[in-house]
Amino acid sequence: DTDREVLNVVVVGHVDHGKSTVIGRLLYDTKSLPEGAIDRVKRISREKGKPFEYAYLLDAFEEEQKQGITIDTTQLQFHTDKRDYVIIDAPGHKEFLKNMISGAASAEAALLIIDAYEGIQEQSRRHGYILSLLGIQKVYVLVNKMDLIDYSQEKFTELRSEMNEFLNNLHVYPLRYIPVSAFYGENMTAPSAKMPWFKGEPLLKAIDSFEKDKGLEQKALRFPIQDVYKFDSRRIIAGRIESGTLTVGDDVVILPSAKATTVKTIEYWAERDKKSRVSAGMSVGITVEDEFFNQRGEFVVHKNDVPHVADIFRANLFWLGKNPLVKNKEYKLKLVTQEVECEIYSVLKVIDATTLAAVDDAQAVKTNDVAEVIIRTRKPICFDEFKNNPITGRFVLVDGYNVSGGGIVSGLYTQIQTVT
Ligand code: GDP
Repeated sequence: DTDREVLNVVVVGHVDHGKSTVIGRLLYDTKSLPEGAIDRVKRISREKGKPFEYAYLLDAFEEEQKQGITIDTTQLQFHTDKRDYVIIDAPGHKEFLKNMISGAASAEAALLIIDAYEGIQEQSRRHGYILSLLGIQKVYVLVNKMDLIDYSQEKFTELRSEMNEFLNNLHVYPLRYIPVSAFYGENMTAPSAKMPWFKGEPLLKAIDSFEKDKGLEQKALRFPIQDVYKFDSRRIIAGRIESGTLTVGDDVVILPSAKATTVKTIEYWAERDKKSRVSAGMSVGITVEDEFFNQRGEFVVHKNDVPHVADIFRANLFWLGKNPLVKNKEYKLKLVTQEVECEIYSVLKVIDATTLAAVDDAQAVKTNDVAEVIIRTRKPICFDEFKNNPITGRFVLVDGYNVSGGGIVSGLYTQIQTVT
């Protein structure tokens, strides 16, 4: 069935807090494991003289999938009655961040796992920060290994407040905190008799409650101009509808120049035919009522739902360039069909993508660093925040002739006013 809804989820957490066990359990409980995986794990456990480990299920599963091919992201899948889930798993933070920022992978929701006994560790904090960097807003915190704290409501509540305070400071607002014991299967598929005080849904039910993002077609119209062709006396504006829908007769505005007009015709070449309504993903040409000069890079949008138009904004970027990214140097920024000179106005924070450790006092961004920056473009451009539109909220930076970094728009830049 190809019409089933798919939700991409990433599972993060400090090493040994139970990531693999949670995933192994989810795969097991939803009967999503390949034939023979359980037997193989039983055998491995016996040979090692250890008890059955759900965590090994993941190894068995990944082995099967990889078959010696090196890939950057493995995709584990499981299914519930409601929809299909893909667990985005990368060999390291670096790959995950790079894939997410470049658009090679996309996780809409996250499970952040914390060991109830060990509590919040440095990595838990860093993972919280990753979610904030990537603008992942649908987050559940799983407080795992509840068995080790005797399923104590008090300790759970304490940990929840502590984690909540930290995450809220990063502008991450977890939708739920779920106490579980992945190892013993408590509160995973069914409410746990060990935790009668917990009134929420068990994990597998809760996960079905993640609300899926609106599809690109349901978002605001973003039609970046690729080219303007002149046929006879008509000017045809061509490009790809990146999001939303466009209908003949729509009142539109062309940005950044802010010219208002009405859509006269839509030419949809794929069908050698005229259409009166087109939507996200289609390459089309349109003509408009008012003939004025339009050019590549401008956005055709609906009047009542416009993107930001600015020459300064906040971004989170992943740097791959051989030379460090530095302030006051000219780079080229490409955001869909827009190309503009830009510079790094300010470097707010730099993180080593491999270790996730903050780089002290960094003014330059080195290869494989992730940075929060403020970018200034030579002229105003159109964009959205990444969390609102993954296409018009993403850009690449070109250093000389090389694509050297990718980034996502995290917000507008507003100068802090000093009140005297
Ligand atoms: P990961 O490094 O985050 O993937 O952690 P693992 O899933 O490999 O788990 C690390 C260790 O914690 C393993 O020995 C698991 O058996 C154990 N573990 C995982 N979940 C639980 C749990 O709910 N209770 C207890 N007591 N141990 C657990």
